[in-house]
Amino acid sequence: MTAAALFAGTPEGFERASRADLDRARAAVARLQAMPASLASLAAWDEATGAIADASARASLLRSVHPDAAMREAGERCEQESEALSSELGLDPSIYRPLSQVDAAGEDEATRWYLFRVLRDFRRAGVDKDDATRARVRALQEELVKIGQEFQRNIRDDVRSVQVTQEELEGLPADYRAAHAAGVITTDYPDFVPFMTYARSSAARQRLWKVNRQRAHPRNLEVLDRMLGRRFELAQLLGYSSWAAYITEDKMIGSEKAAAEFIEKISDAAGPRAGRDYEILLARKQQDEPGAVRVESWDAEALKERVRAEQFGFDAQSVRPYFDFARVQQGIFDTTARMFGVQYRRCEAPVWHPDVSAWEVVEEGRVLGRFFLDLYPREGKYKHAAQFTLASGKAGGALPEAALVCNFPRAPALLEHSEVVTYFHEFGHLLHHLFGGHTRWAGLSGVRTEWDFVEAPSQMLEEWCWDAGVLQRFALHQETGQPIPAELVARMRAAEEFGKGLKVRQQMFYAATSLRFHDRDPAGLDTTALAGELQEKYTPFRKVAEAYFQESFGHLEGYSAIYYTYMWSLVIAKDLFEVFREGGVMNPEIARRYRKSVLEPGGGRPAGELVKAFLGRETKFEAFKGWMEAG
Ligand SMILES: [Zn+2]
Repeated sequence: MTAAALFAGTPEGFERASRADLDRARAAVARLQAMPASLASLAAWDEATGAIADASARASLLRSVHPDAAMREAGERCEQESEALSSELGLDPSIYRPLSQVDAAGEDEATRWYLFRVLRDFRRAGVDKDDATRARVRALQEELVKIGQEFQRNIRDDVRSVQVTQEELEGLPADYRAAHAAGVITTDYPDFVPFMTYARSSAARQRLWKVNRQRAHPRNLEVLDRMLGRRFELAQLLGYSSWAAYITEDKMIGSEKAAAEFIEKISDAAGPRAGRDYEILLARKQQDEPGAVRVESWDAEALKERVRAEQFGFDAQSVRPYFDFARVQQGIFDTTARMFGVQYRRCEAPVWHPDVSAWEVVEEGRVLGRFFLDLYPREGKYKHAAQFTLASGKAGGALPEAALVCNFPRAPALLEHSEVVTYFHEFGHLLHHLFGGHTRWAGLSGVRTEWDFVEAPSQMLEEWCWDAGVLQRFALHQETGQPIPAELVARMRAAEEFGKGLKVRQQMFYAATSLRFHDRDPAGLDTTALAGELQEKYTPFRKVAEAYFQESFGHLEGYSAIYYTYMWSLVIAKDLFEVFREGGVMNPEIARRYRKSVLEPGGGRPAGELVKAFLGRETKFEAFKGWMEAG
């Protein structure tokens, strides 16, 4: 039975199962407290935290995807209860004490590293603080879970739309125009992204851009203030100067200062290129509007698209006929199956909506894990694309399970190439979770590496959708059946390279927003003003009145201060990919070595060590810098 079976039942059934898991965790803790300190203590702790983490992850998925609001609410409650138990136990000296006496000297490397991490997490949670402080820490943690849910709920439930005229649909593909004959364009991705890219009307794009930047406004303005305030208080109680200082400490980057320096370093590396990109966009805009003096945020994607079409001979619409949804999905399956020597098999399992399908990953007859695909938008569903954990795996224990939650146009449909990239990206997370879900300890399974490494495997897998040889196996023209020409892929690539300076600067705007909201006492902080200031510092686009980007920036909940992690991981991903670039992207020997040294250990070694084991050296900045300067 899969963990998702509970999604097909009732709210009461889901809550019962969740509480049973939490009871199992409490029983394991009681055993731990009664036994002399030994490796069995660590095993009991792993069982307890594994049960809680899975209950929490399952509830988080439920609240993000279930079509029934009562089920989503049950998910919220169960996640709150799981997180509450997790913070309670993490602050309990009677658990910490025996664990700190465990002697793991004779154990394997992963076990020693795990014990180190467990003890460090207790100290970071505040286990050695006095009773009153620990009580306040717990209360804050519980409150923060609820605040985070509220922040996400406000985003998830606020879909806006604009009414456009038939003339304002000019520039959009015929299938899009047919599907939007009534002229209602929503802020959901399949509506929003093509409109911002292709619509000729700047005025219509401006209206849509603006309502998109008003999602969750004004509700999240206050929710965000509360979130920042409680995080700051918590960090102070734990002895840190700010939330940013606290949250960066156990990451690869190691400190708030290093994170700030990294943002500047990347920003500088992208600076010259971003400047040139902007001048090209402005010159293009002036062709249509001779007096134009600046490019606005809502112009950028559409102008990039025009430049790509006119100066690089590449029109993104020209590749859409090659990306039939079903073929793309099969292509992702076939590509990764060949690389890693596995198969994907459809399986019978209860699901939470008729759109959802269930799959198994099989290797030489052995099932390695299960996953669910939930790919189309619907009301009340999570608005982005992400991999959600359903169950952590463990050697000799439960199988890892995960879900991919995306918002693609409903099949049969043609995808944008950028959507193909997204699908590969999320599949990269999925494989990390499933291949890494067989560790000795549940607490080390899958993506439980340092957080700022997590986006490296997923961003690296994106490279495969830029390779003509890979694409030609599944990107067949919907009418002619011909594979996508290598020459078209080369133009698409060259066109994609255009604008990367601006893209990286935009990412650094997000990273700086995330860090700077958290590097201070937020009392009196005007988040709208600071976000506007940072936008103008890192991007050439001016701030806009009545736009409230930060209120629908969902990563402020999950990532808090560490959005820089995407770029940090990208620097590593570019470096990892060099090995494939030289040895062949479909080289199964390299792919399997990568799987073994980077994905399978999960969090069993510091991420820097995983990377070193694969590269045979320390990771370097050169591959990223070369990419930024090339083309
Ligand atoms: Zn990702």
